Amino acid sequence: MSCLFCRIAAGEIPSEKVLENERAFAFLDIRPLQRGHVLVVPKRHHERFSDMTPEDAAAVMDLAQHVARRQSRALGAAGITIAVNDGRAAGQEVMHVHVHLVPRAETDGIGPVHALFRGKTPTLRDGELREIGAEMRG
Ligand code: AMP
Repeated sequence: MSCLFCRIAAGEIPSEKVLENERAFAFLDIRPLQRGHVLVVPKRHHERFSDMTPEDAAAVMDLAQHVARRQSRALGAAGITIAVNDGRAAGQEVMHVHVHLVPRAETDGIGPVHALFRGKTPTLRDGELREIGAEMRG
């Protein structure tokens, strides 16, 4: 098994475990964006978000909810940024799907995930939203 997060979920590589369920494992990010930054991974290997089986996706999201409650209650997080960098183009570095949960404070001055896209958002033509919707519905 060569995947880093497979090995962490299997306990072969040490991590600071937070919680787990039958199908998912939650541990502290080794280079936290904020104090208490947690990663939730499926125990079975899936590279991308949409590769997960419905059972694994449900287990990951269920565990993420439990982690979020702990971040609020135990760490006093006033908010949480919950994100998946899905695919290399979106910044995914470890190719085993993982949900980031980053505790946030009212005063951290970081802003929403939208801030990443500032100055790089498209301007839509009249009717373009409808075209995109049609394209996606197929
Ligand atoms: P991403 O860029 O979305 O693929 O995020 C990968 C995350 O994994 C980064 O936030 C890293 O800090 C984190 N990470 C990498 N190696 C480890 C490790 N051994 N234990 C915990 N977190 C890790």
